[in-house]
Amino acid sequence: LISVRDLVVGFGDRLVLNGLNLDIMRGEILGFIGPSGSGKSVLTRTVLGLTPKQSGSITTFGVDLDEASRADRRAVERRWGVLFQQGALFSSLSVLQNVQVPMREYLKLSDGLMDELAMLKLEMVGLKPDVGEKSPSELSGGMIKRVALARALALDPDIVFLDEPTSGLDPIGAQDFDELISTLQKTLGLTVFMVTHDLGSLYSVCDRIAALGDGKILKAGTIDEMLESDDPWLKSYFHGKRA
Ligand code: ATP
Ligand code: MG
Repeated sequence: LISVRDLVVGFGDRLVLNGLNLDIMRGEILGFIGPSGSGKSVLTRTVLGLTPKQSGSITTFGVDLDEASRADRRAVERRWGVLFQQGALFSSLSVLQNVQVPMREYLKLSDGLMDELAMLKLEMVGLKPDVGEKSPSELSGGMIKRVALARALALDPDIVFLDEPTSGLDPIGAQDFDELISTLQKTLGLTVFMVTHDLGSLYSVCDRIAALGDGKILKAGTIDEMLESDDPWLKSYFHGKRA
């Protein structure tokens, strides 16, 4: 679905990604791990075209966004949904209005239809209709993540990018969120790219895991393949420091 080739991204003279190759396959839930500051968010933002790259290429749904016309770009953008790591909701907007932000940007619909659609999205993520009227400040952390997910689903995307969606949730809340992702993946045929440090997510919902290190993909594979790796960082990540 998405191919990243020889990607180089840096800030000043510091290269964060240095020759990274990665394929995201249709219908998979790909878990993305790596040390803090290794560039997981930078990769996500670069794939979304929000952070410029030094070199390399990214093909999304068969389209290279660097070479695409504005119309083709928007057509690609319509097919993805994003939950950013700093993905706060707009505090001045109601929950329903937050979910409608991408709809207003990319669809031409009447207000009534948008209200209906946004309600449907809230229902999909397990929220009750009355939450729509609330202000984000009235919600718990877990509910905020769900609203952000509903917003990511606003345009019926083919792929969602989730940057640490369960960070800040308690273990049960994180597990509930994982179950939701897994259900949505199955019912909607979604492809999911999920940056996460949650071992529970990696074990229970991810079809495949890719680990980032030194600006490249250190290793990618199933959880079992990752557990068997001899790489020191992966060993300590999955088996604890003593492994
Ligand atoms: P975490 O697990 O803490 O979220 P991460 O793997 O997502 O970490 P990134 O946010 O991708 O890490 O950051 C990778 C590196 O790039 C960091 O050293 C960061 O300081 C740097 N960086 C990211 N964005 C910018 C920017 N806009 N300008 C300069 N440096 C940046
Ligand atoms: Mg990050």
